[in-house]
Amino acid sequence: MTASARPHWSLARRFLWISLAVVLGHSVVSLVITTGLREHLMNNLLRGTMQRQSLLALNKINDQLDQLSAAEAKACCTIHDYQRFLSRLELDDGKVALIQGQAGLATTRNARVLFQPSQLERFANASIKANDGFAMVDIGGNEAVAAQEIKLAGGAQTGHFIYVRPIYAMPAVRTQSMIKFGAELVLILVTGVVLVMSAKRVFQPVRRISTDLASIELNTLDGATLSTAKAPIELLPILEEFNRMVERLRQAAVNQKQFASTISHEFRTPLTVISGFLQSVLNRSDTLTEQQRKALGIADQEVLRLNRMLSDLLDLSRADNHQLSVRRDAFSLLPSLEHALRLARAAHRNPIHDDLAAVPNLADLEVVGDPDRLVQCIGNLIGNAAKYSPPDQPVALEVNHQGTAVEISVIDQGPGIPADQLERIFERFTRAEGVALPKGESSSGLGLSIVTMLMQAMGGSVSVSSTVGQGSRFSLRLPVADQP
Ligand code: ADP
Repeated sequence: MTASARPHWSLARRFLWISLAVVLGHSVVSLVITTGLREHLMNNLLRGTMQRQSLLALNKINDQLDQLSAAEAKACCTIHDYQRFLSRLELDDGKVALIQGQAGLATTRNARVLFQPSQLERFANASIKANDGFAMVDIGGNEAVAAQEIKLAGGAQTGHFIYVRPIYAMPAVRTQSMIKFGAELVLILVTGVVLVMSAKRVFQPVRRISTDLASIELNTLDGATLSTAKAPIELLPILEEFNRMVERLRQAAVNQKQFASTISHEFRTPLTVISGFLQSVLNRSDTLTEQQRKALGIADQEVLRLNRMLSDLLDLSRADNHQLSVRRDAFSLLPSLEHALRLARAAHRNPIHDDLAAVPNLADLEVVGDPDRLVQCIGNLIGNAAKYSPPDQPVALEVNHQGTAVEISVIDQGPGIPADQLERIFERFTRAEGVALPKGESSSGLGLSIVTMLMQAMGGSVSVSSTVGQGSRFSLRLPVADQP
């Protein structure tokens, strides 16, 4: 079966296999190290040490033999004589020596304290029976002694000299235990590192999916499906269900946009008719009472407001369907600014100041964009400034020409906007938390999202800076047209 024919794999199974392989590898390496160390200890260190040390002990006995008189030497050597020689040997750390012969067993002083006579007999027999005189004898509880036998030249009675050494007391054995402990420690570390790395690798797809998910936005649902290729089988149903859900959402978003677009279209005509009739009644009839005139005036204002909202919705739905036409032509900035100011002054009670007269060469300045849309954007910002400020507070329009861009700022002395809300207010249907809507005003939360969309379509941008309690400054930037 090829890799491409089996694109899905199990997270759990992969991790299980890796863990098994790591544990198995750990055990094998540990076994190899332990066995190698033990073999090295037995074959090289222990055997050589035993031979050297037993010869040293034997030489001390021979020295004593050499000091015998001629008569004593002649009578020598029974097991009792050896008993005497052995008693002078100084051995420590559990080491003992024995003479084993037909007449019995003669031992060093410590031998009978450290070991039972039957155990000493076992050591002697094991080493005598071994081919090269060396034997390892277990005395229980995982403790072992090494016994080295040397044949004595004293006849049947004297037999064999046996040197016994408990191996747990040997420095080499202690070193071996340390090496084993060290090796185990290194192995545990290596195993840990391998397991952590494997876990990272195994859970990589989960991390990749969460990164992909984080990059999905409501307005980018078109390309938001998650790839199921080479995904682990545990995650496959989740991915497939997620993709189905995105598809449903996408369809719902399309329907919603379609609905908004249809409603806006369908509502506009009757609203225009209502507004027309209201205007004609208001203009022509002299028979209306003051109260009737006021009521019709309010109705007319509301129709206008509804119309503006529908235009906003229509603009947004056109932009969503890539049908919004926004020009990017060079045009003279001053007439648009003056037009926007005229409309704003007629619509709002707040004093609206401007610095147009103080801007050098403003009459010759051309920018790139759509003059009508720019007027719409400025109108929107001045509308907000007037809406959120008290009626007597002034609003200012400032123009700054900076190199290749022009910045048109609308400044108010209203309530200001909390810093954590400054980004949010450019989103659709969003109002700033902490900014109260003045009594009698309405709010759709669409204005700034339309300004953003229009400015981007013109190749410009919109930004805000604000201080709570002092006011806000909204700035539109447009590129300056190339001078001929
Ligand atoms: P709307 O004004 O219809 O609610 P906008 O998109 O124009 O929608 O504005 C979004 C929010 O930003 C407003 O609800 C308001 O909280 C805040 N905001 C906008 N302009 C100002 C301003 N000049 N001063 C204080 N808050 C403002």
